[in-house]
Amino acid sequence: MTDVTRRLFMQAAGVSAVAVTHSARPARAAGAGLEGVVRVIASGNGAAATKKAWELIQEGADPLDAVVAGVAIVEDDPRDTSVGYGGLPNERGIVELDAAVMHGPTHKAGGVASLQNIRHPAQVALKVLQRSDHVLLVGAGALDFAKAHGFQEENLLTDHSRRIWLRWKETMSDRDDWLPDPAEAEPPVAEFFQKNSVRIAETGLLRFRRPTGTIHCSAINAKSSMSCTTTTSGMAFKIPGRVGDSPIIGAGLYVDNEVGSCGSTGRGEANLQNLSSFAGVELMRNGASPEDAGMEILRRIAKTTEPRLRDAQGRPDFNINFYLMAKDGRYAGVTMFGDADFAVTDEKGTRLEKCRPLFGKG
Ligand code: ASP
Repeated sequence: MTDVTRRLFMQAAGVSAVAVTHSARPARAAGAGLEGVVRVIASGNGAAATKKAWELIQEGADPLDAVVAGVAIVEDDPRDTSVGYGGLPNERGIVELDAAVMHGPTHKAGGVASLQNIRHPAQVALKVLQRSDHVLLVGAGALDFAKAHGFQEENLLTDHSRRIWLRWKETMSDRDDWLPDPAEAEPPVAEFFQKNSVRIAETGLLRFRRPTGTIHCSAINAKSSMSCTTTTSGMAFKIPGRVGDSPIIGAGLYVDNEVGSCGSTGRGEANLQNLSSFAGVELMRNGASPEDAGMEILRRIAKTTEPRLRDAQGRPDFNINFYLMAKDGRYAGVTMFGDADFAVTDEKGTRLEKCRPLFGKG
């Protein structure tokens, strides 16, 4: 979601777009005595989701039901090209979704991967948790399971996402039969494409840098019960069948009701190689604050990144973000680099706060 569409979306959702720099800090400084706090945090595209989930928790909903209902707003939104309906497709032009849920009080989890044609994969993941003896269903089996539970199939590829995919396909190579329109693509497609591309000096071709998206959302209620979900269309133009971190328990999300929760957006492969959400919760168990735990998992990823994926300074050339919340309500968002937001709703309202970057580059 671009800043503009996010702003419009937040206005539509009645959310104030106030960026508060590191206001996670007062919560952390307050330390103990935060039991009783009701708080929902999410990736930067999740302000409407945190608001909805917080309201549902206040009405008595279980935090897991609340976060799944919250992220459904983003799964429904065609303007968010990283989640649900309107998500960017795989390399064949087919939208394939990954999602998972985890319930703190029971420590149960459910997930779906490479799910096609169902716009609310987080809801299917919740059904896997509630109505199966399994944790993860993939592909055709996940679709059959969703249909058995009454989910309707539909085409999730919007015209906007189809055009972005088509332009990617046409500009990948000048040696195949797919040729771009010599006239510029329509403005929203061209703008999206330009923003996410680098020109290769030798060939003059644009190389599309796959944008990252996804929504992670986690919540704590007044009884200190925690739950979370992560839902995504995954890496744009991925090889069909590629599964990212989002539906993998311990990678895209993890919660231990006695400790805290952690979830992720960004390059899933880096997370899968480090099982970072599990690591984040374990670091908090050993006494790290949410922010310190988040910085440590970013450092581990930076350290293990293969040379192919490093910039001239040796830093990862991809982004990845984590959202952490401790059992006592302390919370943080961290990002590998640059200026990233995360969403928070609590008794102070709904707002975007700044993720703390490991590296200062944009
Ligand atoms: N983490 C997601 C994945 O790798 C993608 C993203 O957040 O952009 O599938």
